[in-house]
Amino acid sequence: MPQYKLLLTPGDGIGPEVIEETRRVVAWFAQNRNLAFAMEEAPIGGIAYDTLGTPEPDSTIQKAKSADAVLFGAVGGPKWDSLPFEKKPERGLLRLRKDLELFANLRPALCFDALKDASTLKPEIVSGLDILIVRELTGGVYFGEPKQTTTLPNGEKRAVDTQVYTTSEIERIARVAFELARLRGKRVASAEKSNVMVTGVLWREVVTRVHAKEFPDIQLSHVLADNCAMQLVRNPKQYDVIVTDNLFGDVLSDEAAQLTGSIGMLPSASLGAKDASGKQAALYEPIHGSAPDIAGKGLANPIACILSFAMCLRYSFGLNEDSKLVERAVDRVLADGTRTADIMQPGMTKVGTTAMTGAVLKALDKLNT
Ligand code: NAD
Repeated sequence: MPQYKLLLTPGDGIGPEVIEETRRVVAWFAQNRNLAFAMEEAPIGGIAYDTLGTPEPDSTIQKAKSADAVLFGAVGGPKWDSLPFEKKPERGLLRLRKDLELFANLRPALCFDALKDASTLKPEIVSGLDILIVRELTGGVYFGEPKQTTTLPNGEKRAVDTQVYTTSEIERIARVAFELARLRGKRVASAEKSNVMVTGVLWREVVTRVHAKEFPDIQLSHVLADNCAMQLVRNPKQYDVIVTDNLFGDVLSDEAAQLTGSIGMLPSASLGAKDASGKQAALYEPIHGSAPDIAGKGLANPIACILSFAMCLRYSFGLNEDSKLVERAVDRVLADGTRTADIMQPGMTKVGTTAMTGAVLKALDKLNT
């Protein structure tokens, strides 16, 4: 029996709370599905700064590299807001992404039927929604050089960010999107701004070529990123997989998140390239932050983190059935009317963090018999 090596990095705020709950779900799978996990924990973010003087300890990065997957909570909070940029908690996450070369960020937007009324859009627009946004994570305008602020001779300031992409960067993210589409609805929409940006022109050319050469079985469409933003609120179900760059992906995935009602429900995955042995670096995390306003109160919704573990089962361990089991358990709990405060609706039963996990575990028990 393979042993899956998981590194847990709880981080700050509600991070440790939702990771602790997810640990219970991992334990359930070890006990009831005959799976073996080796779990280790390591500091990252604000807590790492407090205890070790750095938000990105080398020891944590090393452990992440040797693990099969990292399960990340959240980092940051007002306590560390005034620290210089290189000491900020978020540096821990950025270093993990960089050192593990996690270039593909997967953000599913899945609308559970029981929550279709919680969306700000009409229920018929979001009911049954199941889209996946694949965002390029290590290139583009967030990392391009030059990136600087200078003072001009007349005293005003000038800030520059640089949008830059190479052929190989676009090829590898396109491949991830096409491969994932093969496991889903077999459709990819590629979003860029080829009407006004040369990086957009190259993006479209490369995606078109990779598609024609390697993925003729997948249906490819191209959409301008601003139009894609509009289509996501007009008719999101037209999409299956959307592939896009770092900046547009940041914006479009947050927009898609809102379609499903609550930030406390949404998981994500970040994947690297496969090495010669087939091992692929991977980090799974809820998309929410450390939620300092509710930290320590037992109010956090643990579902985003639990669903991140479900993604880990699917993408890192190839355990699709087990992954589906988690999703079905969450679906059942929501259908039964169990709600944390962030997704509370009239007539439902309000519970805290621990009780929500308890309900998921009970649903897993029932589904597993
Ligand atoms: P946030 O996601 O932490 O919180 C936004 C709102 O959503 C808050 O009202 C919060 O209470 C609520 N919320 C978030 N997760 C929830 C959950 N699981 N259950 C119930 N309610 C939930 O975003 P923010 O307030 O903009 O940021 C707070 C801190 O988190 C900042 O320091 C920010 O830098 C950091 N942050 C970290 C990450 C990360 O670690 N990946 C991501 C985003 C923000």
